[in-house]
Amino acid sequence: MSEKRELTCIGCPVGCMLEVTLEDGMVVDVKGNTCLIGKNYAERECTNPTRIVTSSVKVGNGEIDAVSVKTKSDIPKNKIMQCIEELRGVVVEAPVNIGDIILTNVAGTGVNVIATKSIAKMN
Ligand code: SF4
Repeated sequence: MSEKRELTCIGCPVGCMLEVTLEDGMVVDVKGNTCLIGKNYAERECTNPTRIVTSSVKVGNGEIDAVSVKTKSDIPKNKIMQCIEELRGVVVEAPVNIGDIILTNVAGTGVNVIATKSIAKMN
């Protein structure tokens, strides 16, 4: 079965409009991309869409009570809600350093969640 999808490439601020043709769930043609990033994005988005997830978790005994975090790499889009749920109950103790692993193997994806900010311990 043939299907057409329209996407906006998120590879750079230009935001090319992509027209993707799929046959039986497989990408067979991509139009509208200016570079290879757009073609790769369209193929991934239509077969295995992934995203970096950003959020925050609570910090105990820190100068501020939360730290921003993100997945170290993309995770499948259908795991985003589970990732957010797992982060909801997490509390880390200060000090927290940028790059610290906050949660391993989030939502069973094999990807770790890391701190994107440092939080000093409360004096
Ligand atoms: S196709 Fe290339 S130029 Fe166009 S938005 Fe994507 S990354 Fe940017």
